[in-house]
Amino acid sequence: MKNLLLSIVFWILCAPYALAQDLNALARVDADRTTYTESRNGVSLTLGLSQPVPYRLFTLADPVRLVMDFKELDFALLPKEFGADAAYLKSVNSGAFKPGWTRMVLELSEPMLVSLVEMQTEGNNDRGVLSVELRKTDDQTFRAKSNPPRDRFWGLKPEEITVTAKERQDGSRPIIVMLDPGHGGIDHGAIYDGYSEKDLVLQFALELKEALVRTGRFRAFMTRQDDVFQSLPGRIAEARTMNADILVSLHADAISEGSASGVTVYTVSQKASDASAELLASQLSRSDLLAGVDLTDQDDALAGVLMDMARLETQERSDLLAEMTVVGIAQSVGQLRSRPHLSADFAVLKAPDIPSILIELGFMTNRRDLQNLVTKAWREKVIDGIVLAFDTWAVEDAAQAKLLRK
Ligand SMILES: [Zn+2]
Repeated sequence: MKNLLLSIVFWILCAPYALAQDLNALARVDADRTTYTESRNGVSLTLGLSQPVPYRLFTLADPVRLVMDFKELDFALLPKEFGADAAYLKSVNSGAFKPGWTRMVLELSEPMLVSLVEMQTEGNNDRGVLSVELRKTDDQTFRAKSNPPRDRFWGLKPEEITVTAKERQDGSRPIIVMLDPGHGGIDHGAIYDGYSEKDLVLQFALELKEALVRTGRFRAFMTRQDDVFQSLPGRIAEARTMNADILVSLHADAISEGSASGVTVYTVSQKASDASAELLASQLSRSDLLAGVDLTDQDDALAGVLMDMARLETQERSDLLAEMTVVGIAQSVGQLRSRPHLSADFAVLKAPDIPSILIELGFMTNRRDLQNLVTKAWREKVIDGIVLAFDTWAVEDAAQAKLLRK
């Protein structure tokens, strides 16, 4: 490996990251795009928002109500007449529910369940619109389906989580790779020069999957196959469901300042290895909030898991995978950043039992990087490098597993 490392041509660069899109600005309800209508079967509700925001919905019994939580949403402009004279609506209340979150509660006169919910971006100005359909149901069904959210693994308290150490690969079977193209759906990721990050990384993931499968030494899956939103916990859950040996997250973010370029490989760490890595991590985690997943709770749950011994072993295996990937890509394309392997606090890399890396394929704001990303020949070279790296890692990782068992 040392010789390979020496062959890397380093790129000198260090630039601060900036948010491609300001997700912090407080969103407002737009009165003129907000509607409430009733029919024989239920209720249709449209909330016009000044921008799409993270949200979640659920129903509760006693009394029958619909609860809607929004991240940083100002309800001051909710029309006074909203739901006035409504037959199915007993009361509407909204207000701060915990720091950064606003809750709206509609008390209903009879049991209704959410039959459709959709947050869409509207027009060219990136306004949001939340559509909700409620359908009448019987009391028994309503009660069965009405509970506060409990998001699989992620809603659990640390002591409720049992980490069953996954059977470590020993070289005797194909490596199961979960590819995770970043962003998707309403979350575009970086947008630059007419290109969306979500599309570029999906294209890359499809090609990488194909290349891995073709070797016969890998089985490969994807956290999303097309342009849909996938939450960060959802991405890890996919990896776990498929019994993945490794999770590989793919991004190509934008920076508005400086001249960052080249490929960077990240592993998770509680402490970011530099300020720009930390900013990037917070940027990526924040984008997850768009789908209504509250990461603030998740971190508590993870704190316990991270103490597990399995986590340490996984960290070492992730670091090795990252280093091999850096070397593999450098070999095939001949250039990388000055510090091509960095660590940061990325939520998507936090599966305690699955070695995980995040590959920044380049920065869309850099002309050459963007040109590379849209060039098939360049992608093929990088993919060759990654396949070589994963092959090398698989052998080394199996050898270390044997040592551990002795
Ligand atoms: Zn990204």
